[in-house]
Amino acid sequence: MRTAGGQASSSALLARRSFADMVANAPQPIPVVEIPLRPLKVLDGEIFSFSKDEITKSAEPFIFSLVLKFLRNRPSLDDIRSCIRRRWGLVDQPVVSSMAASRSMFVRFANEGDFKMAISRESCEMRGVPYRAFHWSTDYTDETESPVVPVWISLPGLPPNMFHESFLENITLPIGKYVRSDNCTRCATRTDAARICVEMNANMDPIESIWIGVPHQKGSRLQKVIYENLPAYCRLCKTQGHNISKSRKAGGQDGKNINLVGNKARNRRMYKEKDLTEEEPGQLMALEMDKGKELISSVQVENRLSIEEIEEGEL
Ligand SMILES: [Zn+2]
Repeated sequence: MRTAGGQASSSALLARRSFADMVANAPQPIPVVEIPLRPLKVLDGEIFSFSKDEITKSAEPFIFSLVLKFLRNRPSLDDIRSCIRRRWGLVDQPVVSSMAASRSMFVRFANEGDFKMAISRESCEMRGVPYRAFHWSTDYTDETESPVVPVWISLPGLPPNMFHESFLENITLPIGKYVRSDNCTRCATRTDAARICVEMNANMDPIESIWIGVPHQKGSRLQKVIYENLPAYCRLCKTQGHNISKSRKAGGQDGKNINLVGNKARNRRMYKEKDLTEEEPGQLMALEMDKGKELISSVQVENRLSIEEIEEGEL
């Protein structure tokens, strides 16, 4: 289907659309959430409208929603819808709408599976404009960014009998909320590592290893965790992109989060990735996190092939 910017007139387009298409694309009212009409609530002399429970209830139709916050001027609504339709591989097309903040888009998914596919996407750009994806909640504000972010982790050497979804969900519980594993893990076609996307708090020190089985017992395993794209998060500015030691608010010299080592890794990886994926060029951010005196760099990668090329010393 053409976008509104296309050459064909709208009447010609309408003529070519089937009735089923038109019904499928017609905006639908949001599901009804009802609360009773009751007397005003007053607390310490102040009138308020809704309890926390009622606010949570009001959000039910929107639990599978994302905010895409573009880092530069965003593509048009039609371009964004078209990108999602062509590249995201969803079962149902989500409702995409603009928000008060001009660079942000609200994307409401019809089902959990589509939502998980969208939030775990490794290529976060449209028409060359990068974006950050946030799981929408009633706490969402455009000024402050949530530290809870989708992160791809790799569990190197995890035995394939642990690749069941319910096992992976349990293994990753201390790290964050399980979103999904990649195809190779789901089908156990690559058994050098399991790859899993979790929603985790970038504000916390990342867990480096997890015991599988009873600690220090024969047959148990201390499983290493590699974070592929953990963004830096600043508690002072409440935004992603730099950490507290680089924060201007804390008197840091440089607001950016990429150190020299990170930049080297970044350039090298971008060059390699260009050969690997034509359609969706990889986004790469070398990020540093403070963890005691230790400096950890993590690299966002586009696909599995690239990960193999990283030497352990680089991570
Ligand atoms: Zn800051």
